[in-house]
Amino acid sequence: MQHDTDDKEIAEQILAIKEALGEDLLILTHHYQRKEIVDLGDYRGDSFGLSQKAAADKAARFIVFCGVHFMAESAEILSRPHQTVQIPDLEAGCWMADMADIYIVEKAWGEVASICGEESVMPIVYMNSDAVLKAFCGRHGGAVCTSSNAPAAFRWGFSGREKILFFPDQHLGRNTGNQMAIPAEEMIVWNPHKPLGGNTQESIKKAKVILWDGYCLVHTRFRVEHVLRMRERFPEAKIVVHPECTQEVVGLADAVGSTSFIVKYVANAPPNTTIIVGTEVNLIDRLAMENPDKNVFNLHHSLCPNMFKINLKNLLWTLENIGQVNVITVPEETKADARMALDRMLALAPL
Ligand code: SF4
Repeated sequence: MQHDTDDKEIAEQILAIKEALGEDLLILTHHYQRKEIVDLGDYRGDSFGLSQKAAADKAARFIVFCGVHFMAESAEILSRPHQTVQIPDLEAGCWMADMADIYIVEKAWGEVASICGEESVMPIVYMNSDAVLKAFCGRHGGAVCTSSNAPAAFRWGFSGREKILFFPDQHLGRNTGNQMAIPAEEMIVWNPHKPLGGNTQESIKKAKVILWDGYCLVHTRFRVEHVLRMRERFPEAKIVVHPECTQEVVGLADAVGSTSFIVKYVANAPPNTTIIVGTEVNLIDRLAMENPDKNVFNLHHSLCPNMFKINLKNLLWTLENIGQVNVITVPEETKADARMALDRMLALAPL
């Protein structure tokens, strides 16, 4: 009870600061945030939607990003010079983003380029990555993508070059390749700890898509047996999953799509539909609450502890120290190159 009272008081203090700052403040909240954080935000969305919002806003002097570090970094890159971007907890990182760093990506790029020629490979980086990797893509003619526009990014990539080097999420890359009917043998995995990524010169030459050996621990927790068990318990249910899940899970689902797609899928389902969702549990809990005329369940409980690091206390602390603490900075040179790759992404229509 004490806990609820504290939360209520903190939420009231946050609302008072929001009112005092008015249009000077924009609070962006990712769909995987806790409900109490989403309720206090000005805009909620997935990483694509939030990037669009950050790029479009001119009024706010302060953008407080309730999400993980790479998202706040992207907002900083897309923001205007008079805007400051802050994150309530600098430790809110992303395991997947940590699976690729600039040194190993540059090494892989050099190896692939020496075999196929740089001009035949398009680097496409998932939004879930450090700014330096986005900058790398920008410098090499490539783009950023999110799960909302990965197919559009792949089509764009293939319109310019023969192959795509996609990092860091192998599952989003593979599911996108499957959607485009690219044969499995033309999608190879690059393990940065092995010579030539664990491939042969021949397989690299033959590949259409080179997939970095990275993954999201939250979405790869969903297994085929979870889908089978839910199908048995709820034979009438629809199962919708995120494309960071493995291709085996995706293959058994009724629908696959980005976080925004999942939100719309549930909202548009007829009343009384049972929907089993394979994504981060905070979003699923909220979907269940916001769609009381439907039965929404999770495929398996899977929480992102990084997203969960943002809470009412550190949001309040950030607002009390607006413009001063946990400010996200990106070096100018990195920013300019990363911006090119992000702008290419924003020009692509999401599905
Ligand atoms: S859900 Fe996965 S990809 Fe998203 S922030 Fe968490 S660890 Fe990273």
